[in-house]
Amino acid sequence: MRILIAEDDPLLADGLTRSLKMSDYAVNCVNDGVAADLALSAESYDLVILDLGLPRMDGFEVLRRLRRRASNIPVLVLTARESLDERVKGLDLGADDYMTKPFELLELEARVRALIRRGQTGGTALLTHGNLKLDTVGRRLSLNDQTLELSARELGVLEVFMMRSGKVVSKEQLAEKIYSWDEDVGANAIEVCIHRLRKKIECSGVTIRTIRGLGYLLEKSVT
Ligand code: CA
Repeated sequence: MRILIAEDDPLLADGLTRSLKMSDYAVNCVNDGVAADLALSAESYDLVILDLGLPRMDGFEVLRRLRRRASNIPVLVLTARESLDERVKGLDLGADDYMTKPFELLELEARVRALIRRGQTGGTALLTHGNLKLDTVGRRLSLNDQTLELSARELGVLEVFMMRSGKVVSKEQLAEKIYSWDEDVGANAIEVCIHRLRKKIECSGVTIRTIRGLGYLLEKSVT
């Protein structure tokens, strides 16, 4: 999966790049509209994350040119806060989805996955592990078809585990996935969240094991 990020805010571009790379996407990043237009003409991508306020050529023009070339790559537009006009114009020009800054990385990633899936299969959004089923679009966890009540943060943490099934997930990875970079995270916020999550999935046959010094692993409970 290959993603192009067109964003001129270096902090945001860097955060997005690192986060998407951690989810095993190949990421190219450009910081102006001309470079974005060039990259999109020359290379093939599965998704574009496109800031509208770009130097040299704005995101609207990049999008207009992309669709004029009859490309149907999914486009996720990033807009400044409270600019309804921009969002509407972006969608009219052929954007598939938009996010208003500032946003949660986890939500952006969920939308990225949904768009890539839609682009490829028109498909489903279900992650499963044992008897647990996580609907990543509807944001719902179920156990044997009974819904389990989870907070957004718990759902986010579980989603990270289920996406990386069978791999150890570090505390830092979890923190990066579920918090935006301007958010102050208490030292034990992840532990507290894992603790609650463990209780909620106690009877699922799946458990979160602590791997000392490394992080956590989602695995079948030992009975
Ligand atoms: Ca910008």
